[in-house]
Amino acid sequence: QSEEIVENLKQAVSDNSLENEIQVVRTGCFGFCEKGPIVKMIPDNTFYVQVTPEDAGEIISEHIVKGRKVERLLFTDPENNEHIADSKHMGFYKKQIRIALRNCGFINPENIDEYIARDGYAALGKVLSEMTPEEAIKEIKDSGLRGRGGGGFPTGLKWEITHNVEGDEKYVVCNADEGDPGAFMDRSILEGDPHSVLEAMAICGYCIGGSNGLIYIRAEYPLAIERLKIAIEQARELGVIGKDIFGTGFDFDVELRYGAGAFVCGEETSLIHSMEGLRGEPTVKPPFPSVSGYKGKPTNVNNVETFANIPVIINNGAKWFSSIGTEKSKGTKVFALAGKINNVGLIEVPMGITLREVIFDIGGGIKDGKKFKAVQTGGPSGGCLTEKHLDIPIDYDNLIASGSMMGSGGMIVMDEDDCMVSVAKFYLDFTVEESCGKCAPCRIGNKRLYEMLDKITKGNATEDDLGILRNLANVIKDTSLCGLGQTSPNPVLSTMDNFADEYLAHVKDAK
Ligand code: SF4
Repeated sequence: QSEEIVENLKQAVSDNSLENEIQVVRTGCFGFCEKGPIVKMIPDNTFYVQVTPEDAGEIISEHIVKGRKVERLLFTDPENNEHIADSKHMGFYKKQIRIALRNCGFINPENIDEYIARDGYAALGKVLSEMTPEEAIKEIKDSGLRGRGGGGFPTGLKWEITHNVEGDEKYVVCNADEGDPGAFMDRSILEGDPHSVLEAMAICGYCIGGSNGLIYIRAEYPLAIERLKIAIEQARELGVIGKDIFGTGFDFDVELRYGAGAFVCGEETSLIHSMEGLRGEPTVKPPFPSVSGYKGKPTNVNNVETFANIPVIINNGAKWFSSIGTEKSKGTKVFALAGKINNVGLIEVPMGITLREVIFDIGGGIKDGKKFKAVQTGGPSGGCLTEKHLDIPIDYDNLIASGSMMGSGGMIVMDEDDCMVSVAKFYLDFTVEESCGKCAPCRIGNKRLYEMLDKITKGNATEDDLGILRNLANVIKDTSLCGLGQTSPNPVLSTMDNFADEYLAHVKDAK
């Protein structure tokens, strides 16, 4: 539909002989999926929502030619039914701080000039001309940035470790193998602002002493791949990646590697094996990729969102970045807000915001006026949080202490009609499907866990089975080889802890 809107807008511009004054530009995602497709008018920032191809002619003839806003396409504030023209004033955007998503929805991602116009490649220039690798690493360390892929490992420290390892060849790898159900944070960044990732990878290369960048991206992301290819080509042409960048003698280039959609390949050792053409199976760490990674060389792996923060930290300084967030979790986090919520979409919020603010102020509350029941964070590795967790400030440590985790940013909201045992079963089904099968606890244990949940939901289990279920979940957690198996029982354990009555109700109904 968006393609048709673009075509119709161009046609309307041409019909009104406005080609020399008006540009129709395709941007990346605005984040407000619930109200898409969106057309934004620049420079007055009018934000038209739920636009159809048929509306295109009216937007041009009314807004551009006659200077009148098309009222019926403006966002209507659910509080007072008033039209809001500027997205800044919408509940969905008011509490957001967009750092990683700063350019998504603002620039044409297929035009490097638009990225440059918003400080693009300035950070790379600054690092190469004014900073030693050690100084740049210190800046990232001081910022407090932690890995946004789920682990939360301090990014600057990771860079420092790879920098300190001796190696004739080192690699910078961008993990774009996003696989959580309902998550599309990385895809949106790559589709909306691919240069921010390329720039950050070059900065990382300079810091660790590597000239080779690889982006491991799932083949199911054709638009992101297409835009990355265009971005790499344009960046090479302009000389911001390639040989002798800015005449400093520093070389850095980026290539793409495609993943086939296996969830386990998001784990860094599996990802590296997959890039090497081997089976995407994890191996025990150490050695960590920083010491022995791609082709046995020191390799720094960060995910897309982590990289997207880097140029801003260099441009604005560690102090600015670390002023946002909580004591141990700095900056912002991008979440894909989904499920039974009014404003489904992609949001970026400061660390420390509460779940209540995310779900009710930004998310607009629960669909159809139903009652909130739970929110799943951290995808299949995370847990379900409840009413009592709504006022906890969101950060890495608080989410873990509450029985869930940050993960890469999936956030699925459930209402009073959802059965929490079925929710746990849904995630287990996913894990069973995605287990690589290398170790027995995950390969066999998760299958048995799923079968037990199935038995419970069908009313065929006894109360004793609940004890066995918990024991098995703990064994899988303690003995699996990699993060996938170690976290796969989390949805079961957290729902057993927070919704014990629902498990008991199923058991009580047992014949
Ligand atoms: Fe493979 Fe699961 Fe074992 Fe990880 S925990 S190595 S995904 S079988």
